[in-house]
Amino acid sequence: MPATPNTALLQRAKDILTRLVAFDTVSENPNLPLAEWVVGYLAEHGIEATLLPAEDGIHANLFATIGDRDAGGIGLSGHMDVVPVSGQPWETDPFQVVERDGRLYGRGTCDMKGFVACVLAMAPEIKAREAALKTPVHIVLSYDEEVGCTGVKPMIETFGKSLPKPRLVVVGEPTNMTVVNAHKGGSRFVTEVTGKDAHSSKPQLGVGAIRIAGELIAELGRIEARLKVTQSDPRFDPPYPSITVSGIEGGIAHNIIPPKCSFRWGVRTLPGVDATDIAAELQAYAERELLPAMRSVSPDCNIETTIVGILPPFSSGERSEATSLALKLAGQNETFAVPYGTEASHFEAAGSSTVVIGPGSIDQAHQPNEFVEIVELEKCLAFLAKVANWAETTPASADA
Ligand SMILES: [Zn+2]
Repeated sequence: MPATPNTALLQRAKDILTRLVAFDTVSENPNLPLAEWVVGYLAEHGIEATLLPAEDGIHANLFATIGDRDAGGIGLSGHMDVVPVSGQPWETDPFQVVERDGRLYGRGTCDMKGFVACVLAMAPEIKAREAALKTPVHIVLSYDEEVGCTGVKPMIETFGKSLPKPRLVVVGEPTNMTVVNAHKGGSRFVTEVTGKDAHSSKPQLGVGAIRIAGELIAELGRIEARLKVTQSDPRFDPPYPSITVSGIEGGIAHNIIPPKCSFRWGVRTLPGVDATDIAAELQAYAERELLPAMRSVSPDCNIETTIVGILPPFSSGERSEATSLALKLAGQNETFAVPYGTEASHFEAAGSSTVVIGPGSIDQAHQPNEFVEIVELEKCLAFLAKVANWAETTPASADA
């Protein structure tokens, strides 16, 4: 088959994806080499990018604008980090893209270097039309998304100051190129129980922290059971907020009543629900039902919950500007809500109308033998071409 411009574009996206995947950007590792490679690639095409280094010196966000920086515009947002591969049964080298049966395998192909590769492949095309753009297109790449969406926050804080604030944001997380305008929040906590150690033959002198933690975990189960009934939104699967206890530590020896126990837990909340209310409810239970008896044995007993991270739920509404535009450009009329979290929460909260649409299925994200269907990349490139057309034809007045 003769090469058409579209196959050339797809090939460019595949080549870029191969390059991006080869950088091991598991969140704890540096993403700076990848970000610097992107800066170089964009510079080759006449696009100037800004790196925003993190304090740790090994991570950085990246921001670039094609068009007039000060005219609102649309941000194409992706994260550069990926989840770990250790302990997963990969059949191929996760950091080398392998093409097989219409799929590209490799860590991050789906979540979400595939989208980033499509954006970068399209960037020279948009740059070639820069003089005609009525509204700018921004490339917005973050680090540390997979560890609580923390990396993007310092970049968003500079929006409207040292960086322009995109009026609209497309977050290209894997949605099979469907339009997602709501997702659950993801909040993470650690609860620490301080009991009182004693010889296990003298239980009356001690307060077993692990047993107390068990009571608290059971209470979280009761809270979840209640929320399941009282808060339900059929757009989500599951339709209720969920609570996960994901780790627990404590104990010294068989014959010692354990003085310390801590456990990690998290809530996936529906829009309109504040996860800190659930932490407060757990604390109220602790103070009412557990601490008085604990402190009668030892006044130093304590139960304390700290917030590790809060990702608010995201809901941009059926008729938000970003949702309407994404539906129009994707030629769809249905929106979806998803149970996983994205940076969309932070962009929307900062005042950019935001929508989530990207190539690949969330089913493959974070999995061994992660892949993206090549047809998904094609759909994404077609969508981005329409974004470019929109940026060229949108009247400036619509960008006020
Ligand atoms: Zn992701």
